[in-house]
Amino acid sequence: MKKGGAFLTTPFGVDEIFTREKWSDDQNEFFEAISDFAAEVIAPRVDDIEKLDEKLTRDLMSQMGEMGMLGMDVPEKYGGMGLDKTAAALALEAMGKSASSSLMVTATDHTGIGLLPILWYGNEEQREKYIPKMITGEWMSSFALTEPGAGSDALNGTASAKLNDEGTHYLLNGVKQFVTNGSWADIGIVFAKVDGEKLTAFILDQETTGWERGPEEHKLGIKGSSTTTYILKDCKVPIENVIGNVGQGPAVAFNCLYIGRLKLGAVTMGGAKQAMKTALDYAKERQQFAQPLTAFGMMQRKFADMVIRCYEADTITYQSTGSIDAGTEKFPEDDPKYYDHLYAVIEDHAIENSTNKIFSSEALWTNADDGLQILGGYGFSEEYPFARILRDERVNRIFEGTNEINKLIISGIALKKAILEELPIREQILELGENWMPAVEVADDHPAAQEIKAVELGRGIVLKTLNELILKHGQDFKNTQFEIEAFADMVIAQQVIFSVLRRYLQLDESHPRRDVVGSVLRVSVLRNLEVIVSNAKKIMRHILDEDDRDAKLGRLEEALSQLAYHADVIKEQELVFQLLLKRGEYPLND
Ligand SMILES: Cc1cc2nc3c(=O)[nH]c(=O)nc-3n(C[C@H](O)[C@H](O)[C@H](O)COP(=O)(O)OP(=O)(O)OC[C@H]3O[C@@H](n4cnc5c(N)ncnc54)[C@H](O)[C@@H]3O)c2cc1C
Repeated sequence: MKKGGAFLTTPFGVDEIFTREKWSDDQNEFFEAISDFAAEVIAPRVDDIEKLDEKLTRDLMSQMGEMGMLGMDVPEKYGGMGLDKTAAALALEAMGKSASSSLMVTATDHTGIGLLPILWYGNEEQREKYIPKMITGEWMSSFALTEPGAGSDALNGTASAKLNDEGTHYLLNGVKQFVTNGSWADIGIVFAKVDGEKLTAFILDQETTGWERGPEEHKLGIKGSSTTTYILKDCKVPIENVIGNVGQGPAVAFNCLYIGRLKLGAVTMGGAKQAMKTALDYAKERQQFAQPLTAFGMMQRKFADMVIRCYEADTITYQSTGSIDAGTEKFPEDDPKYYDHLYAVIEDHAIENSTNKIFSSEALWTNADDGLQILGGYGFSEEYPFARILRDERVNRIFEGTNEINKLIISGIALKKAILEELPIREQILELGENWMPAVEVADDHPAAQEIKAVELGRGIVLKTLNELILKHGQDFKNTQFEIEAFADMVIAQQVIFSVLRRYLQLDESHPRRDVVGSVLRVSVLRNLEVIVSNAKKIMRHILDEDDRDAKLGRLEEALSQLAYHADVIKEQELVFQLLLKRGEYPLND
């Protein structure tokens, strides 16, 4: 797949998706090497990192630089590894073994939104000057867009940039809020408005004057990462340090944030697997009623659901990176328009970038919460890791665009892709006519016939609901947030079951864990179809008049009863848990 959002319009039987089973030998080795480094070098230092130890953090960053981890998707000519988005994502997943959210935030901010503006939009001099020292960890970077009065509404900031009389420097004034790496950064990618209106990105470096940092923010979590304000007082930035063109700031910020979201999805997916392992290690040892906690069904159920969530997050992560990589592979890096192509593809995958960020950050949150519950009172104690895990995780639903803002993006882009016919959404809605179920040809004795039909029905419901929303609201759909949220939840659920089903169908029949993947698939399909149906009904009940509603929802009920999808969730959860117990950690990585 190469097109963003294609999971909405690709019928059963067409096209394959990318999954971790398609990783190359090199990618598998890379994953193992980073996992070992994270577990052996970083994990033992977590408590020290939490003391906000700049020297230790820089030392670990240098070691990551030596391994190539700070320049994975940076072209080799700037000293990077020149790898694709899949490699970048798998490295971030592997870093989950470090159990250090603080270091992950420091490093991903540096390599993502702190570096990409220069790589993608900077000129050759800027790239050559800054990037080689950034990817070794010698220079640490930061990204300052948010302001006290402009958070989600990021383009509405008031920081100003005025060209001096000599025409040599811009003078920046204003305050930037919540800057990650704030007190440590050697470089600041700072956004300010030229002449009060043209938002522009600037590079601040060690030679910049008038750049002050406020005190450390007292945060709920990620206490080992630095977060401060930037105070710009006639901050003097040479005109050579403008990134891209004056006024190009919104594109710089948004495209870098798009990919930042995808990467945050990979980080939180890796964190969700690690949180599960931490809880499992404890539950196997802890005895109550003369049995380990793992003997109790309610504990087993939580663990099974953790595995299922991780599998879903894993599947959409690599489905998305694979689609982006497939979209960019035809452009050689020395093509002068390479970066134009790259961010066009990334922008085209805006739905996936946001669905991944939302789904995986929520999966980690739920795994952290369940993990804390599994530790009982010890989960609530600072002596054990879950209090920190829970606190650290919370910010993932806030930064890189809050999950609410990401839902606005999902619905907005789906609407745009339908109206501009970037995907054959209208065509497929016309084909559906009054039906909710797309035509699907699958033999009744196909082992996954029911799941295939359920996923297709899910697709039909999402498309028809979008159609009803367009008919009712037109472009004003973007102002109806109750509906937007419900619709975005449907899109996320559909991406999950579309991808999990395909991954299962693509597995070799002799794969030793195919049966358990089948269990995961059935639970996933049942639950996500319920999400799709309940949200579709909620929307229809709200936007349709009574007769229309009864007729349309009546046909939906008919389609659902014809499908009659049932899964024995308890049986499947038992199977999933048994595999987890046998393998001792997330069991579906291979
Ligand atoms: C630890 C940490 C590190 C950060 N690092 C950086 C960084 O390095 N660089 C940087 O630039 N920023 C950074 N941020 C800022 C972060 O991106 C913002 O906090 C975030 O974008 C939300 O902005 P806000 O805090 O002003 O909340 P607000 O925008 O005030 O939002 C408050 C609530 O209202 C909701 N809301 C707002 N607008 C809408 C809307 N239109 N529709 C529906 N709901 C809405 C939000 O979802 C949220 O729940 C960081 C924040 C934290 C906490």
